[in-house]
Amino acid sequence: MTKVAILGDGLTGQSIKKALERLRGYSLTEVQYADLIVTSPGIPAEKMPKTSVEIISEIEFAYRLFHRPGSPYRPKLIAVTGTNGKTTVTSLISHLLGMPAAGNIGTPLIDYVDSPSRPEWLVVELSSYQLEFCTTFRPEIAVLTNITPDHLLRHKTMENYACQKAKIFGQQRPSDTLIYFNEDTYVSDCVSRAQAMLQPYSLKSPELSLLTNSKLVGNHNQLNMLAGLYAAKAAGLDMDLILSRLATFTPVEHRLEFVRNYHNRPFYNDSKATNPDSTLVAVDAFPDPIHLILCGQDKQLPLDVFIGYLHKKVKTITIFGDISERFVAGSKKQNASFPLFQVQDIDAAIRTAFKHSKENDIILFSPSCASFDQFKDYNHRGQVFKEQVNLLS
Ligand code: ADP
Repeated sequence: MTKVAILGDGLTGQSIKKALERLRGYSLTEVQYADLIVTSPGIPAEKMPKTSVEIISEIEFAYRLFHRPGSPYRPKLIAVTGTNGKTTVTSLISHLLGMPAAGNIGTPLIDYVDSPSRPEWLVVELSSYQLEFCTTFRPEIAVLTNITPDHLLRHKTMENYACQKAKIFGQQRPSDTLIYFNEDTYVSDCVSRAQAMLQPYSLKSPELSLLTNSKLVGNHNQLNMLAGLYAAKAAGLDMDLILSRLATFTPVEHRLEFVRNYHNRPFYNDSKATNPDSTLVAVDAFPDPIHLILCGQDKQLPLDVFIGYLHKKVKTITIFGDISERFVAGSKKQNASFPLFQVQDIDAAIRTAFKHSKENDIILFSPSCASFDQFKDYNHRGQVFKEQVNLLS
C-alpha cells in the first residue's frame, strides 16, 4: 500500500483524492505519514513541506499510474506548453483528432487513469507550475509554443522559468516528436538539448500557405494552427482531413473573441491576455485602428518596451485596476500627450473607448495582466466585459 498525501484542495486535489479512493494499492494520508506527496499546481515551491519524501505533480502521478504494472489503460500523449497559446493549440489538436483535452485546460489528467472510454490519444495542456514537479513524464508528441516573460514572481528568473517549460521534452526519446516555435530565443536555446525528432515551425513554414480557410485571426493564430497541424500529422492524421477540420475550428472563448458590432465598431474580448506579450499579439492581429482597454493585477513585469510599442500601434488606451498607476507613470514618461484615459471600472472603460472611436475602429479588451484584483478569474472578467458590451444601447 502506497500512502499518498495531497497538497491543495481545489479541482486537482479533489481529483487526486477520488483516484486514491478508486485505485487499489493506494491510500490517502497526512504529509507526515506519506510515502509520496502529490501537489496541485497552485502551491509554490517555498510553501512545500520540508521533507525528504518525494513531491510530484498530479500530471507526473497520473503518468506513473498509466504506466504502473497491470494498468488497464495507457494513452498516447500529446503535451502542449508555452507562455501563450496553450489552450488554443490544445483545443485545436483535440478538435483535429477528435480526442479529449485534459490538464490545465479543465479536466485533470488523473481523471483518465483506468478510464473505461480509453481514448487512443489525450491532448494535455501543461503550465510551468505543472511541469515543475514532473520527473519521468514523457509525451509521444510535445509542443512548445513560446517562452516570454510571465510568472516570474514564482519562477524568479527567465532561466528557471524556461527550465520548467523544457521539462515537457526532457524525457522524450528519439522516436518521439518535439514541435516548437523556432523564432523564440529561449525556446531555441532549450531545444538544443532535446533527444526527440524535431519539427520546428514559424511564419516561414511552407505549410502556412495551406491555412487559408480558418476563423482564427492574427499571425499568432497562424502559428497556433501550424503547431496544431504538425501535431495532428505526427499523430498520423491525413493532411486533407487536417485542413478540412481546421476550417471548422472556432476561437476559444475569451481569446480574441468577437463580441458585437455596435455603431460599426467591432468589439473583441481577449480577457485571457494575462501578460504583455499576449496583448501585443492581439494588437498586431488587426490592420484597423484600435482603442485598447487594459486592466488587472500588476505582475511586476517590465513595461517600457510594451508601452513604447502600444504608443505606436493603438489610437487610445483606457485603463483601470491595479496596474493603472505604474502603467500611467510609464506612459507619461515616454509620451505625456499620448491619449491615455484612467477610469474606475470596466463599464466606464467601455464607454470611454467608444467615445473616442470612429466608425470601423476596433475596440479591443486585451488586459495584459492577471484578473484577480477585481474579478474571480479571467473567465469572469471576460463575461462581465461581454455583458456590458451587449448592454450598450
Ligand atoms: P494560454 O493557454 O497559454 O494562456 P491561450 O490560447 O489561452 O493561451 O491564449 C491566451 C492569449 O495569448 C490570447 O488571448 C492571445 O492574445 C495570446 N496568444 C495566443 N496564442 C499565442 C501565440 N502563439 N503567441 C503569442 N501569443 C499568443
